[in-house]
Amino acid sequence: MISPRVEVDLTAVEHNAHTLVQVLAKRNIGVTGVTKATLGSPEVAHAMMRGGVQRLGDSRIENLEALRDAGIRVPMTLLRAPAPEWADRAVACSQSSMVSDLGIVAALSVAAGKRALTHGIVLMVELGDLREGIMVADVLDAARTISRTRHVVLAGIGTNLACRSGVIPGDDQMQELSALATTIGSKFGVPTPVVSGGNSANLSWAMGNGRVGAINDLRLGESILLGRDPLTREPIPGLRQDAFAVVAPVIESLVKPSAPWGLRGQAAFGAPDAARNRGTIVQTIVALGRQDVDPEGLTPPTGVSVLASSSDHLVLETPGRLAVGTELRFVPDYSALLRAMTSPFVPERLLTQATHG
Ligand SMILES: *Cc1c(COP(=O)(O)O)cnc(C)c1O
Repeated sequence: MISPRVEVDLTAVEHNAHTLVQVLAKRNIGVTGVTKATLGSPEVAHAMMRGGVQRLGDSRIENLEALRDAGIRVPMTLLRAPAPEWADRAVACSQSSMVSDLGIVAALSVAAGKRALTHGIVLMVELGDLREGIMVADVLDAARTISRTRHVVLAGIGTNLACRSGVIPGDDQMQELSALATTIGSKFGVPTPVVSGGNSANLSWAMGNGRVGAINDLRLGESILLGRDPLTREPIPGLRQDAFAVVAPVIESLVKPSAPWGLRGQAAFGAPDAARNRGTIVQTIVALGRQDVDPEGLTPPTGVSVLASSSDHLVLETPGRLAVGTELRFVPDYSALLRAMTSPFVPERLLTQATHG
């Protein structure tokens, strides 16, 4: 079998989705499954759907189109506002878009009108993380404008925390969002069917004892795929952390000194680490580099450590020499997964059952 590759255990993805859907249903919160880290993989989307997610979301139009082309018909939300010239493709592939600038609403309205569609707008609210979202003071005016714009409806409001600045979602922000949803409903008689509290970083809040209020949706990617809480990167109890593995072959394994020799300048990717002389070690190279994966985000097999990486080589220290062609398995974090799934050099292999042991 060809390597490097990403192996995806669809059973684990389904298990994680199912577990989260069940836990959140008790709190009356639905789940939008987010596929962007898998480049909109229809198989991963199907696994999430078997686990019970009601909707799918992705930040890339190309990914949503791939899901549609694969015949998936559940409601889909575009998580990142489309640039105006992408509005036509946005309305064609999704039921709603998360938007924070009325200029984009206008572009979506025109595009939806041309196709005789009504497109849903989920108005994103800035609650402190300083990525996307309209300021709270401007939400009511914007909601009024959207409710009066042809070919679009106010499908809901949402917020996104913990992405740019690591702001932790909690009771304060969720109550503020709930209150805004309630006010919009009573002021304009426009219900906001979706009140989307955030991403996987909201889970400790959602699974805690805080008041849920009007929050009825979370958009979950990392937690379903990797089984970890993005705020701490700790495993979420009950979820599997082994849905994804990056597998790559050994191409050199030799006994070498631990410290380089010769005059030293910059390395391929900036200043090299200060090398401590530890005598000789077994240095093993696998055919995996920065064009394939984020090497910083790989957990190597037990007993193996990552020494360095360049475009195409991952330099490891292994307990003993390994035959060339030996495959090593690494567990990727979100960043490593994203890059591996995006690299043309790393095909994916979908499994319905883990085969490693
Ligand atoms: C990526 C993304 C998500 C999903 O985030 P996870 O941390 O992977 O759960 C949710 N909302 C928006 C707007 C996103 O861009």
